[in-house]
Amino acid sequence: MTGAVSKVTMTESDDEFDVVIIGAGAAGIAAAKYLVAARLSVKLVEARDRLGGRAHTVPTGFGFAVDLGCEWLHSADINPWTGIARKLGFAIDDTPPDWGRRVAWFEGDAAQRKWQAAMEAFYARLERATESDDDRPASSALEPGGKWNALLGAISNWANGAELDKVSTVDYGRYEPTYVNWRVIEGYGALIARYGDGLPVAFGTRVERIDHSGARIRVVTDRGTLTARAAIVTLPTTILAEDRVKFAPALPDKVAAAAGLPLGVVNKLFLRLDDVGARELARESDRHLVGALDRVETGSYQIQPHGWPVVAGFFGGALSAALERDGLAAMTAFAADELASLFGTSIKQHLSPIAASTWGLDGFARGSYSMALPGHAGDRAKLSAPVDNRLFFAGEACSVAHFGTAHGAYMSGEVAAAAVVKALKPEAAEQPAPAAAASHDAQPIPADT
Ligand SMILES: Cc1cc2nc3c(=O)[nH]c(=O)nc-3n(C[C@H](O)[C@H](O)[C@H](O)COP(=O)(O)OP(=O)(O)OC[C@H]3O[C@@H](n4cnc5c(N)ncnc54)[C@H](O)[C@@H]3O)c2cc1C
Repeated sequence: MTGAVSKVTMTESDDEFDVVIIGAGAAGIAAAKYLVAARLSVKLVEARDRLGGRAHTVPTGFGFAVDLGCEWLHSADINPWTGIARKLGFAIDDTPPDWGRRVAWFEGDAAQRKWQAAMEAFYARLERATESDDDRPASSALEPGGKWNALLGAISNWANGAELDKVSTVDYGRYEPTYVNWRVIEGYGALIARYGDGLPVAFGTRVERIDHSGARIRVVTDRGTLTARAAIVTLPTTILAEDRVKFAPALPDKVAAAAGLPLGVVNKLFLRLDDVGARELARESDRHLVGALDRVETGSYQIQPHGWPVVAGFFGGALSAALERDGLAAMTAFAADELASLFGTSIKQHLSPIAASTWGLDGFARGSYSMALPGHAGDRAKLSAPVDNRLFFAGEACSVAHFGTAHGAYMSGEVAAAAVVKALKPEAAEQPAPAAAASHDAQPIPADT
């Protein structure tokens, strides 16, 4: 973990700020950096004892660290974290992922071409849906009886954390990737935490209520109250929708918008390969394989990423929620069975679990990343709209074109911070333009994660 732990001490002199930022994930950190540069007094309030939120790199004890949350610098060519990584001296692996080649591994190049055509047709139908007011479930864009529907469903589970029938066509179609995907070798979570190093953070401090009835905003926590001229709320949508943090006066429209953008559940499982297993799978190094092509409830497996002796399993949707509920042994058994079907049963004896996430059970996330329910594509704009020009909202769910990502979170944090500066310091000299502003336009085609 990086950053000194500074607990809030609620004295008369140190609980008043220009801006309080609730949540020290990618969005909160980006907002805080911007506001500190604009010479406003800032406090980040974070329930966990670490920076990064859903960006979280953990050591494995085997000479490499793994990301339990974000890993890929999606849209790396326009991703602000790419430049930050370079500036901070983090190594970037720009090997392109082979997500597009999953079918060829099983069925050869001819089948791969058919899959490619079916996938492009599906995404074209989603794209057309963005022009319609009829925001239906994304499953309606499937070809009835289509051979590749299961794989498209599995991809929705990984990309949205939910099955296609729960996902808005319009929102899914608005996601705007550039298809350039890189990785940070030391970990995306480690990068985001390092960027936030030194910011004024009250760690281990849970916000319970945001009272915006008076002249100053009062942020009530389990360790006292802070007041501010403005606040930026970067809480995950599930936390807002479940009313875990209350607003006074109540903001039913915000809670409703958050409920329309629930976090799907995606989890990772890291299985260490012993020397024999690592040798057996060496030919598949850095490849992504799907457990099965003919069912939605299957995992995606990254084999020996960066050449590390590990298999990283990726599970989404109802399957992922069930596996995290059933525990590490169940998750491991599921992955081992699927890997055995790919490589033969002997592989099982060469695998052992070393790390796993349970984001749906995590009390400060309650899920992995946001998707819009059918009919709720407009909720991202509703969620991100400021209240009285002093209560601002950010976080990945506020991004129309880059939702569900760490760069979408960053961009939304900068947009909110720029709006705060405009509200509090209208006379201020021009701030650097937020990286995000230009990227909030809606454009189609979802990422194949
Ligand atoms: C398994 C997984 C894989 C992913 N893969 C990728 C990827 O490859 N690439 C990518 O770009 N993105 C990926 N993401 C998504 C990315 O991690 C998130 O979109 C991004 O980190 C969200 O940042 P945020 O600031 O919006 O929210 P968060 O990181 O959730 O920040 C919100 C903060 O609020 C805090 N909080 C919650 N409740 C309270 C409270 N009551 N009081 C105070 N603080 C509170 C939380 O602890 C948290 O730190 C992945 C996520 C997961 C879970």
